Amino acid sequence: MQYLFYTDKPPEVYSAELPPQDDSLYPPPLLKCPHRDCHMPVRLEKHGYYKRWLVTETFQGRIRIRRYVCPVCGKTVSVMPAFCIPYFQYGTAVIVNSVWSSFESGSVMQAAREWSQQVPGITRRHITYYRGRMCKNRQFIQYGINAMPPAPVELGRIPGDIEWTKRFLCEIRPQNILTFNADFQNTTRSSFMSYRNMVA
Ligand SMILES: [Zn+2]
Repeated sequence: MQYLFYTDKPPEVYSAELPPQDDSLYPPPLLKCPHRDCHMPVRLEKHGYYKRWLVTETFQGRIRIRRYVCPVCGKTVSVMPAFCIPYFQYGTAVIVNSVWSSFESGSVMQAAREWSQQVPGITRRHITYYRGRMCKNRQFIQYGINAMPPAPVELGRIPGDIEWTKRFLCEIRPQNILTFNADFQNTTRSSFMSYRNMVA
């Protein structure tokens, strides 16, 4: 299980090339096991780190993710900085802002030209994929937004998926990207980029 937390520190600080960081960089352990079949009111214990690859505008390399373990059920919980999206190698701001650029400039090609100069390895295919995922994920993202306290945006009445996605990006950019990412993940237990088919 993955939790995200907001931090204003840059990815460099979490680099796996540095010695293990001090605990103030990570949130304190949960006081109740979040796993559904356990939920015991026990303080989770430190359980080392794992390393994951991350690419942003300023960083390319592995960062260290803190892991906790429940002493009752033995299951783990990872806590990841909100500049990451679980299972995506590009950072949260790169994904959100490159898709925004594709709407703003009117073309994914143009956005890719611009972004490939700032972020190593990013291509038209990445941006097309991210943009398609957000549009397809509209219902799941809307569900998550409604479940997050307090529901910050009203997007339900916008008709087209592309119009909806543009409005969504407007709402979360530029200041709210990381807090949105963390709140969404912690509310739904999934990232806003992990595809969910909400049609029954
Ligand atoms: Zn447990």
